[in-house]
Amino acid sequence: MHKIYGVPKSSDELTYSTWSNTVHPEDFDQTSRHLEQAITQQSGYKDEFRIVCPNTGNIKYILADATYKKGYGDESDRMIGVNIDITDLKQAEQKIERLAYFDSLTGLPNRFTINDRLGQTIAFCNRNATYSALIFIDIDDFKKVNDSAGHIVGDELLTQFSRRLQAKIRAADTIGRFGGDEFIVILNNLGSDRGAAQVLVERFAFKMQALTRRPFALSHGSFLVSASFGITLIEGRSTVDDVLRQADMAMYKAKGIGRNRVHFFDPLMQKEFQERIDLERALGLAISNEEIEPYFQLQVNQDGTIRGAEVLARWHHPDKGYIPPAKFINIAEEVGLIDRLGRLILKKACTDFKRHIEKQVPDDFVLSINVSAAQILQPDFVRSVMDVLEQGDLNPEKIRIEITETVLLNSSEIVSLRLLELKGKGFKFSLDDFGTGYSSLTMLKNLPIDELKIDQSFVRDVSTNPNSAAITRSIIALSQSMNINVIAEGVEEERHRETLVGMGCHAFQGYLFSKPLPLVDFLSKIESIKSEGGTK
Ligand code: C2E
Ligand code: CA
Ligand code: CA
Repeated sequence: MHKIYGVPKSSDELTYSTWSNTVHPEDFDQTSRHLEQAITQQSGYKDEFRIVCPNTGNIKYILADATYKKGYGDESDRMIGVNIDITDLKQAEQKIERLAYFDSLTGLPNRFTINDRLGQTIAFCNRNATYSALIFIDIDDFKKVNDSAGHIVGDELLTQFSRRLQAKIRAADTIGRFGGDEFIVILNNLGSDRGAAQVLVERFAFKMQALTRRPFALSHGSFLVSASFGITLIEGRSTVDDVLRQADMAMYKAKGIGRNRVHFFDPLMQKEFQERIDLERALGLAISNEEIEPYFQLQVNQDGTIRGAEVLARWHHPDKGYIPPAKFINIAEEVGLIDRLGRLILKKACTDFKRHIEKQVPDDFVLSINVSAAQILQPDFVRSVMDVLEQGDLNPEKIRIEITETVLLNSSEIVSLRLLELKGKGFKFSLDDFGTGYSSLTMLKNLPIDELKIDQSFVRDVSTNPNSAAITRSIIALSQSMNINVIAEGVEEERHRETLVGMGCHAFQGYLFSKPLPLVDFLSKIESIKSEGGTK
């Protein structure tokens, strides 16, 4: 008994205090309870618990089997029986369990566990009407690694590969080794919108792909690999076999079309995905080749005189035709092209303004430029904008930066510092799409905003919908109380303009006055307005 517990052998008996000091703290409550029960019921006691040996700190598993014996006279009560050290047995049991559920090389869930988790995922999708995704990942040419560098290096690669993937997944998701060089990832709970779920998986797959392409430091040197990704969405009515087969098929397609690829099982998803990849590539090229142009949309005062213009990006693709900003701006934001795109548009707009527009318009004419959150948050945003303006010899006072309310919500402190810095240089600011976001009055008070731009969704039915009219009226009142400008965009009809004038709005932009126009047309538009003495 003392040998097991590793305590000095001062008597044959293990005293309660020695025992209780040695039992593992996590097991103490339970086993004490069992012991007390045995004592009060004067019955047998059989239990399994862990002890921490006082001198070594080792943990041992103990099986105790004893009966209660009441002491006679001044004899104390005792438990008489045996303590068996079952540590080896327990460890073997745990090992078997690990082998059954986890892969021995990488420690990741194995095929058995993956099947089990997939079942749980499907049940979850079913209960919550949400999508999840299964990604099948296969290292390209893994066999070559094994054959040329040997199995030990191959194992090293598999281990490092799995660690990299593992580091990037959320606790709620699963990564497992399916066998050989095949891994799977289950992305859980991607929401109830199929399109949105698809976008999330795409992004994830790209992140994984980038991650696997970085060199691996193996014992025989640095090593580069790629992997093929097959993706399928999981929904409530999927079965484990189906989704595994689908992701596997998609992965083989990815290999078939040239490895190092991502492929979706669903043909429609694959088509959309391919279109998007093509568009990303084309966008990068179009920016490099400076094929995206600024168009100018007139802004006018109440009397029809020229006030300024909003610069809107236009992309005419040689094969695909006109691609609207709604389609490419968010791609540019997501893939990190928005900075280059923004600089290109600004540069071209500056040149157009300096060369052609400036001499045709009043001195207080201002160019409104759209700037995305991703741009403003760039650490060198101010420098980069200033560079473009300096090269174009344009004064920042000629520029009004349009930001949306969502920019302010993201990280308002950085944004407000940045705006103040730009303000110091002379830039003006307009809050675009105003009324659709959630900016608070406190937020507005602390920012150097010069103008609110009433969103076109309110302007469209300002004359007919009492809600839109009420919102518009309060935006105008807000601008008056803050003593800043207000402009309505999307003004398409004369009655919109009249209603807005009646409410106290004196600046307008919309098809009623002019569509966004390429430079040449914009210049003739200005000409005709000047010759008529206003648009009206
Ligand atoms: P936005 O800033 O709200 O721009 C106004 C949009 O309304 C423009 O669409 C414009 O063509 C359209 N519009 C103007 N007047 C009317 C009208 O009377 N009726 C109707 N129905 N629409 C009108 P566009 O050019 O398609 O731009 C869409 C969005 O793309 C813009 O919304 C802006 O958020 C973004 N965007 C455009 N160019 C750039 C750019 O250079 N940089 C950045 N970051 N975003 C840009
Ligand atoms: Ca705008
Ligand atoms: Ca807008």
